[in-house]
Amino acid sequence: MVSFEESMDMMAAMSKEDMMAAMDANKKICATFCGNCPSYSGTGETELLFCSTGKSGKITEEKGCLCGGCPVTPKMGLRWSYYCTRGSGREQMAAENK
Ligand code: SF4
Ligand code: SF4
Repeated sequence: MVSFEESMDMMAAMSKEDMMAAMDANKKICATFCGNCPSYSGTGETELLFCSTGKSGKITEEKGCLCGGCPVTPKMGLRWSYYCTRGSGREQMAAENK
């Protein structure tokens, strides 16, 4: 399985168009997971893909996280959770390495 560090390198080597297409594809998958997550529901949040973009401005309570079952997790080598409240994969990795 690809590591998160390897997938970050692969993303960095992509063209802007390919990167946007990959983000769009991930966002569609995310809608099934974040979109149905107990931490997300009822908060008024409409954004997705917190693993890439970082914390939500609306989600404040951790009531469960469905990221572990999301296909983007193995695809990107993500190994954290609660990206909406704890920050993107990159941010959580940086926090670990402090
Ligand atoms: S990042 Fe995790 S906790 Fe946050 S909305 Fe998505 S699935 Fe739910
Ligand atoms: S890992 Fe979580 S935040 Fe990232 S796309 Fe999947 S459900 Fe959304």
